[in-house]
This record gives sequence, C-alpha cells and structure tokens, in this order.
Amino acid sequence: MSKKAINPDKTAVVGAGTMGHGIAATFAMKGYRVSLYDIDESQLQKAEQQMTAIADRFYAEGRLGQEAHQTFNDRISYHNDLAAATESVDLVIEAVSEDVDLKKEIFSELDQLTDDAILASNTSGFSITEIASVVQNPYRVVGTHWFNPPYIVPLVEVVKGTATDDRLASELGDFLDSLGKTAVVIEKDIPGYIGNRIQMAMTYEAFSLLAEGVANAEDIDKVVKAGFGFRLPVLGIFEKADQSGIDVHHAVESYLMKELDRGTDPDPAASQLVEMEHYGVKTGRGVYDWTNIDPDALKAQRDEDLLRLLDVYEEDLDQTAPEEWYTTNIR
Ligand code: NAD
Repeated sequence: MSKKAINPDKTAVVGAGTMGHGIAATFAMKGYRVSLYDIDESQLQKAEQQMTAIADRFYAEGRLGQEAHQTFNDRISYHNDLAAATESVDLVIEAVSEDVDLKKEIFSELDQLTDDAILASNTSGFSITEIASVVQNPYRVVGTHWFNPPYIVPLVEVVKGTATDDRLASELGDFLDSLGKTAVVIEKDIPGYIGNRIQMAMTYEAFSLLAEGVANAEDIDKVVKAGFGFRLPVLGIFEKADQSGIDVHHAVESYLMKELDRGTDPDPAASQLVEMEHYGVKTGRGVYDWTNIDPDALKAQRDEDLLRLLDVYEEDLDQTAPEEWYTTNIR
C-alpha cells in the first residue's frame, strides 16, 4: 500500500489504561497532537492526571522544554466517542484490555470509521492475523507492541500479520524510530512475539526456583539485577554468547537444559497468588508485600531510575554502532 507519509499529528489511541495513556503521552511530549479514547469516563480523568505527572517528571529531568511542558495538555484531546477520536487520523493504536473478542469488536468498528488509516494493536501476544480478520483490508492491520512504561522503554515490536503490507510495517517502524523509539519489525506472527517469549521463559524459571525454596525473592531479583541482567542492556543475548564462547555456552546447555522447569501450564506459584487475589502493587501484595507503599511514589521512583538507564542507552546509540564490527554469520 503506502499512500502517504504518516502525519504524527494525526494519531488516536484507543484505551486510556496503563499503556494507552503512556503511549499518548509519548506523542504529546514529542510535540504532536493526539486523541485518546476510552469507554470509561473515569479512566480518561485518571489518564489526564497521570499524563500531567509524566510531563512534570520529564520537565523536572530536563527532557521536556518549558514551552513543550506548558502546552503539553493542549495537544491531547479526550473522547468517549470513538468516531470523534478517530476522525481523519492516519494511525490508530489500540490499547484496550487483553481480550481478543473485545479487540476484534474494536477493529471492526475502526474498519467502518476509518478509510485507510493504519490500525495497530498493542496486544501483548494475540495473533495480529486473527485481529485483522474482521477488517475488510487486513493489509493495514499491524501489531505495535510497546513495553511499560511506554514513554521510557525504547522498544516497540512492529508485528506483521499474514496480510500486513510489508512497506507499511517498515514505514511504521521508521516513523516510531523518528519518535525516539527503537522499532523492530517481527516477520512472523507467533504468540508472544520475541520480547514476551524470552521474558516469560525467564520469569517461569524464577517462579519455579522460588517455589523450590532455592532462594527468597529478594535474592533471586539480586542475582538478576547484579548478574546477567546487568549485562543485558549492553550485550543482549547473542553478543554475550559470542563473547563468552559458543563452546562454553554449549557445554553448559548440554547438562543444564534437562534441569530447567519445562512446565506448560501457568506457574503453580503464580497461580496460587492469583487465587488469593495477590496481584502485586495494585492489591498491596504479590510476590512482595507492598501494603505500606504509595503506588504513585513507587511509579515516580521507577521512572526516575529507568530514565537514568535511558540516558545511557541513548548515549550508546550515538556512539559507533557495534553492528559495524560484524556481520551476521547465521540466521
Ligand atoms: P488496562 O486495563 O490498564 O487498560 C485497558 C483500558 O481499556 C481501560 O482503560 C478500559 O477502560 C479500556 N477499555 C475496555 N473496554 C473498552 C472498550 N470497549 N472501548 C474502549 N476502551 C475500553 O490495560 P493495559 O495494561 O493498558 O493493557 C492494554 C493492552 O496493552 C493489552 O492488550 C495488554 O496486553 C497490552 N500491554 C500491556 C502491557 C503492560 O505492562 N500493562 C505491556 C505491553 C502490552
């Protein structure tokens, strides 16, 4: 397809929850207009407060200029009518609850309301091909999987369904890069894409170690943060494997793989917490006890810590790209 360049002032975000308000804030902080829609009026009000707090934080950190900060709220329009929110937009990013039938309902409405806008879903892992099945021209449906908090974490996985237009996916990736994100086009529409598959494999083993009593949660988190997690932002997986030596990696794999938890059901320890409605910070208890913590203060602290990492990440991007040192040997 590829008709015209995406106008960054013509974006609508559908769903104003954790991800939706954060994605909309990303556009508004870049100086672009964005419309935000939610079925629940109270969510829109909450989103407005949360987005103001994000802009204040970015201003305090020197990441948002004075004028952009003062005019931040003027660039966002709030809607409880989907037609008004999506009128003459180039891009819609859907971020409603993770329910495939709900997403299909929304995409079917978007199909009627928009002619040729790109329709993107922020689903964490549902099939883009299935979501696109309710749209007359499925080539304009694509996944844009942002990571929380979306206004800080650089990655957006741009997921192609079987009918997604190649050029559309690549132009959308370039557009997201121009917003300061790091877009990676995912060629195969597989459950969980790349990020969540790797993350879930790791989390599954961590819950299993906790249930086995190998260590407490603080120590498991310490092993991750001070150990292999410390290296991850610099080396990723394969640069690390090449630097350690594939022979070493292979020797460890040959005796360790059979020891790992290869369960196929949700982890029993996590299932037990869900049964007790211990969902984490939002209910006060999860793996840890958060009852004495103010969730807003916790979020502000998380953002501050992540912004320091983002400084390093962006500095690194400006330096010689390590990709110039090698070419891919295997695919
Ligand atoms: P959330 O529960 O915080 O927000 C969902 C929002 O959708 C709510 O505001 C709700 O009112 C709204 N909504 C529900 N039905 C609607 C409808 N019919 N029309 C309009 N709005 C409606 O959820 P979230 O965490 O923001 O997740 C949104 C999407 O992003 C999901 O697909 C999720 O899997 C994905 N995602 C979440 C995360 C994360 O860390 N939370 C990360 C990446 C992707």
